[in-house]
Amino acid sequence: TEFTNPAWKEQEEELETTLRPAVLKEFVGQQRLVEKLKIYIQAAKKRGEPLDHVLLFGPPGLGKTTLAHIIAHELNAGIKVTSGPVLERAGDLAGLLTNLNFSDVLFIDEVHRTNRVVEEYLYSAMEDFRIDIMIDKGPSARSIQLDLEGFTLVGATTRAGLLTSPIRARFGIVLRLDYYNFEDLTRIITRSAGILNIDITPEGAAEIARRSRGTPRIANRLLRRCRDFAQVRADGVITLETARDALEMLEVDNLGLDEMDLRILKTLVKTFEGGPVGLQNLAVAIGEEAETIEEVYEPYLIQEGFLKRTSRGRIALLRAYEHLNLELSNPKRQ
Ligand code: ADP
Repeated sequence: TEFTNPAWKEQEEELETTLRPAVLKEFVGQQRLVEKLKIYIQAAKKRGEPLDHVLLFGPPGLGKTTLAHIIAHELNAGIKVTSGPVLERAGDLAGLLTNLNFSDVLFIDEVHRTNRVVEEYLYSAMEDFRIDIMIDKGPSARSIQLDLEGFTLVGATTRAGLLTSPIRARFGIVLRLDYYNFEDLTRIITRSAGILNIDITPEGAAEIARRSRGTPRIANRLLRRCRDFAQVRADGVITLETARDALEMLEVDNLGLDEMDLRILKTLVKTFEGGPVGLQNLAVAIGEEAETIEEVYEPYLIQEGFLKRTSRGRIALLRAYEHLNLELSNPKRQ
């Protein structure tokens, strides 16, 4: 939603690829996930088998696509990339699958948005490395069986709960990505600044890290916007002051909450008196899709203690009132 200009989007995507760590050693943070992955990859290589299918889940921008590429690289294998919504027909999937070599990775982003027909083909492909496809129509229609090379499906989704159970059950390895802590984000920003030749002080990097909403994609974007600001308004170096001024101009607040985060909290507190309010009602009042609120915005607000999901709906927590400089209208609810 943030990109309206396709040329700009393309440029952002290209930069994202440039900043993507290529090997597991360069991947910052997510230590427990990385440790597990290392073992699984080594074991598969030792056995000479394809790696078990991997499901990566977590909010956008935390490194799922990056990890899919890293997995292929660490397996010394190739990778084919697609996404759930793009795979419209079984034939699209068959085309990709039959082009995979042994141990290659098929990455399906937004795997929860794969349609049912295509999803059913995935079952036998994942389980038996085989697909049955129908050829011809009418009386001469028949199904032929295609044997596939042993491959690894890496699926990414914002929430594991969005998958149907038959597909979820076919992922032997399920890994969750968490929001990054301050230290890891600082390292990511420093690393990206090095790659892009951006002059930044440690304090400048720390300030961007604090306001990146725990998300490397946001950190990298804020870094580039701060560079623009530093080049135009200052001497090109991102210091603490330049970072602060730039981020203020970008309306990223001191806790990294963006305009939509604030709109959610304000609506919850002001329109719904702190809740509880159902997700649908909240979404209508905000003018955003319920799904987006739930998958993109809420997880961070919940982790940071601004908001809580209860059986009766969403409620604002004390920290939300404090951050908005408002009195708590009904402290009993805390
Ligand atoms: P997702 O697929 O989860 O939406 P991506 O893999 O596209 O996220 O990551 C978004 C950007 O953040 C990429 O440009 C990548 O460079 C950066 N990034 C993500 N995770 C890391 C990490 N652990 N270390 C360094 N950079 C990262």
